[in-house]
Amino acid sequence: MMHAGMPLSWAEGLCCSMLLMAIWAILARLPVLSEASNRVENSSPLAIWITRLLSSQLLLLSLKLLMVGLFFLVIICGLYGTPLPQQNLATELTWNIWWAGLIVSVFFLGSGWCAICPWDTIASYLTRLNILGASDNSTRLNLAVPGVLRSVWPALLMLLLLSWLELGYGITADPYATALLAMLMLIITTTSHALFERKAFCRYFCPVGRTIGFYSQLAPVALRPVDPQVCSRCETLECYRGSEQVEPCPTGLLMKNLKENSYCTSCTNCVRSCPTANISWKLRPLSQEARQDARPRHDEAWFVIALLALALLHGLTMMPIWEQQLQQLSAWLGESGLLLWGFTILLATTLLLVASLYAAAIAVTMKLCRQRIGFKKLFIDMAFMLLPLAFGYHIAHNLTHLWRENSWSWLLHPFGLPTQALPSMSRVMPTMGSGEAGLFILQSGFMLFGFCMSLLILRHRAARLASHDSNRRGFSLLPLALFALLITILQLWLLTQPMMMRF
Ligand code: SF4
Ligand code: SF4
Repeated sequence: MMHAGMPLSWAEGLCCSMLLMAIWAILARLPVLSEASNRVENSSPLAIWITRLLSSQLLLLSLKLLMVGLFFLVIICGLYGTPLPQQNLATELTWNIWWAGLIVSVFFLGSGWCAICPWDTIASYLTRLNILGASDNSTRLNLAVPGVLRSVWPALLMLLLLSWLELGYGITADPYATALLAMLMLIITTTSHALFERKAFCRYFCPVGRTIGFYSQLAPVALRPVDPQVCSRCETLECYRGSEQVEPCPTGLLMKNLKENSYCTSCTNCVRSCPTANISWKLRPLSQEARQDARPRHDEAWFVIALLALALLHGLTMMPIWEQQLQQLSAWLGESGLLLWGFTILLATTLLLVASLYAAAIAVTMKLCRQRIGFKKLFIDMAFMLLPLAFGYHIAHNLTHLWRENSWSWLLHPFGLPTQALPSMSRVMPTMGSGEAGLFILQSGFMLFGFCMSLLILRHRAARLASHDSNRRGFSLLPLALFALLITILQLWLLTQPMMMRF
């Protein structure tokens, strides 16, 4: 089934606004940076109250148990329900509600999902016989994570594998395989929790946690010290070490040094263990962290590049032209059936194209810079500008799934519709004028947000690198601004194209 895309006139209007923004980004003077004056984080009494509420044992436990219940429902429906994906709770809830809505949730809640993640809840229970508090019944070996795994390369590999299963193998249309994947993730999480100290799976291996972790650098909320001075004087470090009642930080973060959301799972252990109640949710400007606080590493830069390429791939694979290219390539390879080799080659090509284009833009920028900045440093530092490009399109694309792909029949019939209901089964298909305009307004907003944030990050990062440059305009940013414009135009074009529904 095909869906019409965003009207071309909307995309043209957006392109014109973005072109003007790009011209401004190049011609305007770069911002003058000062660490203290540019950081804005507010924790009002209301935010502190909300933090206490959200970290209450009762609420957390209830939400965790609800997620565990839904997780088992997905497995049972996937294994024993109808193989029709549009009628089975396993595929509808996993891919159309959770996976599509997860990225949207980051915009409001940061990495809040991880606080109630059922894989972690069940694995923690199996390895500690306790869900929330500290436990003496641990069956963990608490081994140190080998140095070679202490990066996001494992999570990047897992993300590629997940995308391959989702877009290549078509697991989204297979309730049984969806249930098996959910169980496989649980086995890997439990094994990691049992072997390694803290929660190595969440920090190094989980593709879901790392994706929302990086995206949450753009989020307007973060857990931070209420008074940084109190943290700097603290010697007991309960947030890091835990207390008698509360587990230590699962990803080994020390609140007084915390500048990035990437590895925070929002578990609120630190809120509950801090003896001075000095940790709260704080409001901050969108993308502040990606602009000035985050200090990237090589592996993290590649993870962000992969996020951008995979977000594009989600749109590309829903287009008829992708199907035609895949068929042609697979015929040339002599492949039939699931066409997995052909898909793998196209996936690798998309990744390589995005990375090469970005590398080329960095190389030209390096030549234009008056200061001598190494290619690697520029490549890593500027990767943050790709985050909002990926995030804005990822949300805009996922809204299509959330808006159009739910039949909701699975709510009443999680295992599938009764046979007699099948002939009359119909999917609710909104048409332009009966709600579609709302979808396009939201998509346009997120696309503008992504592009605008990307330029802001680019200018802030450039200002930091060129702090001694007397020429403080952004002329040298032209290649990267063009790169951002090119990617966004491609994304907008994808949004205007008719899309094939997954099921
Ligand atoms: S990092 Fe992964 S396993 Fe850990 S809590 Fe988040 S989603 Fe769950
Ligand atoms: S800093 Fe650590 S303990 Fe605090 S919410 Fe984040 S992951 Fe949990």
